[in-house]
Amino acid sequence: MYNLIKELSETFGPSGYEDEIRKVILKNIKEYAEKVKVDVLGNIIAKVGAGKKKIMIEAHMDEIALMVKHIDEKGFIYVVSLGGWDPRILLGQRVVLRNYKGEKIIGVVGSKPVHLMEKDESKEIKLKDLFIDIGAKDKKEVEKWDIKPGDVVVIDATLKRLGKTDDLITGKALDNRIGCAVVIEVMKSLPEDLKNEYTFYFVFTVQEEVGLKGARTSGFELDVDFAISVDTAPAGDTPGIEEKVSELKVGKGVVIEIVQAEGYGLITPRSLVDKAVSIMEKVKIPYQVEVGVGGVSNAAILYITKKGIPTLGIGIATRNLHTPIEVASLKDIEYAVKSIIELLKNKIIDDHERDN
Ligand code: ZN
Repeated sequence: MYNLIKELSETFGPSGYEDEIRKVILKNIKEYAEKVKVDVLGNIIAKVGAGKKKIMIEAHMDEIALMVKHIDEKGFIYVVSLGGWDPRILLGQRVVLRNYKGEKIIGVVGSKPVHLMEKDESKEIKLKDLFIDIGAKDKKEVEKWDIKPGDVVVIDATLKRLGKTDDLITGKALDNRIGCAVVIEVMKSLPEDLKNEYTFYFVFTVQEEVGLKGARTSGFELDVDFAISVDTAPAGDTPGIEEKVSELKVGKGVVIEIVQAEGYGLITPRSLVDKAVSIMEKVKIPYQVEVGVGGVSNAAILYITKKGIPTLGIGIATRNLHTPIEVASLKDIEYAVKSIIELLKNKIIDDHERDN
């Protein structure tokens, strides 16, 4: 599992530019899928099984990134964000820019050193003021290196284990490459009898971080009876976050989402939450429930697609979301895999499938 997540996490895959991560996922699912296609937007749709009822199991594969907007005469590069960055996080990072030839160029998000700051100089950081330095001597040299507006940029980060634990991992794009790893592992370990009972669509969606877009089109096309959406969920177990804001803890079990964004996102039918919880109790998989105050995921779109798709949001509690040092637990990731298999085996969709 660690090696799969390491490969997924370190792969380049900004929203709308998922070609490299798509290739890596296709390679990893090739021997488990009966039929695979890539749709217009770039979602991977892998079909398994031949049952009457259709189930979609989904995770988004894109990562938050930046896009080159402007290059000044001195050769410094200004960017816009693709997805929800906190600009304070970007300052001082090493980044990778990809030009149209597919070449990777290292840059740094520059910052005025403390030595040169005025005493009362504002420390407020705005994305529009941040610049990337790629070491070029002027704009002409940037152009010679084939960097242009529209090129995409990600943080240069590798996956590591945290501290001396063999459970916690840290790196970029755990949101949502750990979700992708869960979906891949579910595909690998899917029991044969479930394949006769259901037709599964394992979907790796694009452009979630910029408006839940890949789920919208793939959910519409597949028109399934039931959907499971796997994504990270903001953990509240670090200093500065009150339990009343988030009770989620890393390493304490798979997350079952009740609502997202105080109901402006997903609202799971209470009977579906209760059934999922009773299955978790029965099979003794540690779980946590989430009444989310902020942030939505693809589940929020899937459940209102077409005439509505009963959707269960499965989460993995993650610290420092949307930073290059996201932290998650391998144990939780395993629980997520097992929970999905058990939910299916225990007929989570019965009484909840859409009445066709
Ligand atoms: Zn996500």
